[in-house]
Amino acid sequence: MSSPAVTAVSAESSDETVTRLYRDTGVVLRTYKLAESDRIVVILTEGRGKVRAVAKGVRKTHSKFGARLEPMSHVRLLLHEGRDLDIVNQAESVDSLAPMVADLDHMTRGLAVLEAVDQMSLDREPNPQLYRMLVGVLRTIATSHSPLVVPAFFWKLLTLEGVRPELDACVRCGETETLVSFDMDHGGVLCRNCRSGAPLGAEALQLMRMILGGQLNAALTAPISQATHEVSNHATRAIEHHIERRLRSVAVFERH
Ligand SMILES: [Zn+2]
Repeated sequence: MSSPAVTAVSAESSDETVTRLYRDTGVVLRTYKLAESDRIVVILTEGRGKVRAVAKGVRKTHSKFGARLEPMSHVRLLLHEGRDLDIVNQAESVDSLAPMVADLDHMTRGLAVLEAVDQMSLDREPNPQLYRMLVGVLRTIATSHSPLVVPAFFWKLLTLEGVRPELDACVRCGETETLVSFDMDHGGVLCRNCRSGAPLGAEALQLMRMILGGQLNAALTAPISQATHEVSNHATRAIEHHIERRLRSVAVFERH
């Protein structure tokens, strides 16, 4: 009866010596230091969702990766699959990072987007739509100064997660005429009588309807104003609210 055990052991050891290589395209979400000259790179890939991989020697002056594995880098990759961490074998740029890092405003917006995507994406769970949205928004940030690029992305991200605010009628009484405030705890807009949350002016409401109603490009032409400010504040609050609830539910899940 010893032969099955022997078979199992040899199968396992041969498994470890087989190097599984794969190609994917991804955006670097963040990096952290590992050992003297290595770094762990967290990447949202097109085919495999969020992947954590070791980039060996990346912190050396003459690294073969150059600056291609910095946050916001859009790269074509060749990776070795590992049990927990994969290993980056090759990385080549798809889009240049230059417009992002040349401008503090672009950089700040790009990092806000990366952080939200990092919080909302799961390890090794493919989400090609999220990947496409991320690549799209980084390209838009690089070329646009619209104050609504990031807020609109946050609203789209929430929609992708199944969270879509009610914008047409008061979430308490159904009134459609005098909508004056927005409260994500209640799921959308409220009328004068029921109002809670924070004020939402008519112009801001119009912009939110455009963002979520298929007129994103038109919304992005709006100049900075009190209305864009309101849309932006509501977007930030809604995404923080969502991430916090999600992190809490993951924590509960992991405890059990
Ligand atoms: Zn009402």
